[in-house]
Amino acid sequence: MNITQYMETHGHEQLSVFTDKAVGIRAFIAIHNTTLGPALGGVRIWPHKTEDDALMDVLRLSRGMTYKSAAAGLDLGGGKALIMASSQDKTEAMMRVFGRFVDSLGGRYITTEDVGATTQDMEWIAQETTHVTGLPVNLGGSGDPSEMTGYGIYRGMKACVMDIWGNDSLAGRTVAIQGFGKVASYLAGHLVEEGARLIVTDINSSALDRAREQGLEVVDDPSAIYGVDCDIFSPCALGGVLNDDTIPRLNCKVVAGSANNQLLDDRHGAMLQERGILYAPDYIINAGGVINISLEMGRPYDEKAATEKVARIYDTVGQVIRIARTENITTARAADRLAEDRIAAMRNLL
Ligand code: NAD
Repeated sequence: MNITQYMETHGHEQLSVFTDKAVGIRAFIAIHNTTLGPALGGVRIWPHKTEDDALMDVLRLSRGMTYKSAAAGLDLGGGKALIMASSQDKTEAMMRVFGRFVDSLGGRYITTEDVGATTQDMEWIAQETTHVTGLPVNLGGSGDPSEMTGYGIYRGMKACVMDIWGNDSLAGRTVAIQGFGKVASYLAGHLVEEGARLIVTDINSSALDRAREQGLEVVDDPSAIYGVDCDIFSPCALGGVLNDDTIPRLNCKVVAGSANNQLLDDRHGAMLQERGILYAPDYIINAGGVINISLEMGRPYDEKAATEKVARIYDTVGQVIRIARTENITTARAADRLAEDRIAAMRNLL
């Protein structure tokens, strides 16, 4: 891979490479764009097979963070870090060395949790740098972001329901949820409270037992969830689940869920639109977590202020739908447009 060419084409500002043999760490930090503010993005701890795979991952993810924060109206840029290791190989020393790497960038990059990292790791990183967020509640942080992510999905889902059915009530609506993990559980709480009917699936039987205990309907075969007759399909497990195979099977009017990168390919956004299905772009609707941790930075965390800001995902989803209709583009493209326009406007201002 020609890295500088890839970075130029995709607008990346910086890629830093760090090693420390004594603690066994090899890490990359990618800064995509800092027009709106310092580049925020989690540290992923993952044993990629090759360095090329790891580099592509960190570069792609950092760009995604630029779009997510820009569209959410945050004064933050996009970045991401990647430690090439398995989370089992993590040590306090490794995380503290990583904290020093982050510190050496002088605040251009702010780290937080991602796949393979925990709030305990953030605590260790915080011994070495102030450029870390997503700390545990007992250290004045906002803790696990899943609750706010779940709330944001609920708010974004209501905006979609408003668009399709002319009022935003979820009472009596059927929602099929793929993956009953942390975010989906919080989401389900809001949906049940409002009187929605839930049908859930998961590959993990204990998650399904938990759903049954809560009185929810369960689909035992995970692949059957796509064909369930419902109003809203909510992918809350994996990326790439909206594709040539699954889209023709969907029996819903709205897709609104937390999983990242739900569309396998850009063209699947158009495929959903052709089938008359409204798609809530993933990075718009699942921004509750990043909005939440942004309110932890540089001030005491205020849960009420965070909740109010996350609730505005309702308005952002509405705005994306309007752009898509006006410009006759997919909602996924409209989301990109919203983010790009905000960055361009601020670039002119500065
Ligand atoms: P989680 O691990 O708690 O839950 C995911 C659930 O999906 C698990 O119960 C798992 O068994 C299930 N699952 C995996 N593959 C499946 C399949 N093929 N079919 C059905 N179920 C399957 O994760 P989470 O924190 O709830 O996050 C859910 C999704 O939302 C992930 O894609 C994550 O990247 C995304 N997301 C999470 C947050 C957050 O704040 N946690 C923020 C933004 C995006």
